[in-house]
Amino acid sequence: MVSRKKHMTLGPDDLNAVFSSMAEGLLVVDASRNIAALNQVGGILLRVAPVQAVGAPIADIFKLYRIEQNKRTPWPLDNLIKLDFTRVHIWDHVYCENKVGKLFPLTLMATPLLKAGSMNGAVILFRDATDEARVDLAKSDFVAVASHQLQTPLTAMKLFAEMLDQDTGDLTAQQRKEYQQLLRSSVERMIKLVNEMLNVSRLEAGALRIQPQTTDPVAFLRQIIKELEPIAKEHACALAFVEPPKPLRPIPIDANLLSQVLFNLVENAMRYSTGRACRVAVSCENKPADRTYVFRVADNGIGIANADKKRIFSKFFRADNARKLQSNGSGLGLYVVKMIVEAWGGQIWFTSREGAGSAFSVSIPSRGMKARKGTKQLSK
Ligand code: ADP
Repeated sequence: MVSRKKHMTLGPDDLNAVFSSMAEGLLVVDASRNIAALNQVGGILLRVAPVQAVGAPIADIFKLYRIEQNKRTPWPLDNLIKLDFTRVHIWDHVYCENKVGKLFPLTLMATPLLKAGSMNGAVILFRDATDEARVDLAKSDFVAVASHQLQTPLTAMKLFAEMLDQDTGDLTAQQRKEYQQLLRSSVERMIKLVNEMLNVSRLEAGALRIQPQTTDPVAFLRQIIKELEPIAKEHACALAFVEPPKPLRPIPIDANLLSQVLFNLVENAMRYSTGRACRVAVSCENKPADRTYVFRVADNGIGIANADKKRIFSKFFRADNARKLQSNGSGLGLYVVKMIVEAWGGQIWFTSREGAGSAFSVSIPSRGMKARKGTKQLSK
């Protein structure tokens, strides 16, 4: 004999339990457009008690909109009621304003309510799509910034390549050299941007590999300053290393990661100082009370307005004063830097006064960076 394990069967009363245990909002509307049922999750999303909603016109409770170019237009509820009963209807990017005035995106699904073979209203499933909308927005921001930032160097490359190509001996040697240099700097700008974008997706996708080796921070910084000298020259900037009064004990440091962070901070310090007598100072000190080594990059540049300060590390953020001074930039550098610093167990912060200058600091625990096996390596 086949033995059957005991299993639960649902009676008509249990359907209420199913109804209120659902993760989605569920709303049933009758043929006269009144609400016949609303489950608990639906009530929470719409901020109405299900018992109060039942019997009310759907238009009073379910206020839906389309938002295009920041303009809000009502989304017709007819869409939900006049259904073709041969298929399921799904909508994205519909916004709902609930009873407490909160506007949020919804994903909606509707099917006709069939009773005795005829349509008696609709069954509507809905859920808060705020997270998906955020991801969509981040993706479209990414594409918008990337295409805009790639377009400028690409256009320049095309122009200079054509000029060199069509030259029948009219260009002087000096002009040829100039065009070749401009061509190269456009290519470099493109590579930088593509690398920044790759680094963002690597850092967002998984663990960053950290391979620290015992390093003398002062000797390391002297080397970094040397490598940065030519860039400082290009920006007509005085770059100084303010050495600590006492030598610092060598600690485990992933030199690639630290140099990437410092390059980024020093380049920003120079780029956002152009046009003034630019001075950038790099320093490093031991803070025994906090058990950290702090690396600091200070400039006398354009500074950061108070209103912009909280957004400085956000992906794609560029302050207005920075955009005016430097048309190229992606707003990805500091976002990447912050992720790197936090991955090695440190912190990043800044002080700044608009028109006077900024100082960015990053810390490393004084026991050193923690090694991590991660699979992701960054490009420079
Ligand atoms: P990008 O430089 O490509 O715009 P970042 O992520 O490196 O992107 O920087 C984000 C924003 O932070 C900059 O656009 C600028 O508004 C501001 N910023 C960064 N560093 C400085 C600095 N040293 N001085 C003034 N503003 C800065």
